[in-house]
Amino acid sequence: MKQKEQEELIYINKMMKIPYKWRTGEVWGEFFRELKENGIIYANQCPTCGRAFCLPKDVCTRDHTRCTDRSKWIPVGPKGTLVTYFMAEQSFLLPTTGEMLKIPFAVGIILLDGATVILQHQLEETDEEKIKIFMRVEAVIKPKAERKGNIFDIVHFRTITE
Ligand SMILES: [Zn+2]
Repeated sequence: MKQKEQEELIYINKMMKIPYKWRTGEVWGEFFRELKENGIIYANQCPTCGRAFCLPKDVCTRDHTRCTDRSKWIPVGPKGTLVTYFMAEQSFLLPTTGEMLKIPFAVGIILLDGATVILQHQLEETDEEKIKIFMRVEAVIKPKAERKGNIFDIVHFRTITE
């Protein structure tokens, strides 16, 4: 049998826009609702080991206990300690806002007062010479009218002296 000659395919290059929404779930939903409505950063505590997660978790990563009991939530921060950081020199598009981040910027790994698990967020300080491990920082939260119920309701963490 004679093989059919390979047909040349015709292609159309087209960029597709695919808007989507990602449900936060019960725990993050409550976290972002409190941040938006009251400007309070919460951690949820594991009823078994007592660790306080910020961002809150559905399940403890150590002992797999469910952490959804709202009575175990505690306000943390807004002050905290910088545990480490990294400098970002490549901008990227924020999926939540569609904006490009201005570079360079520093991303801090922050232990909020009262929490036992770290939070990652942008630092106000962009001069690496002025960023010191274990320096004290404080969350700058947007005015209520500007909050949207996402992590960027915290603008950044500013350096503080105590
Ligand atoms: Zn635990």
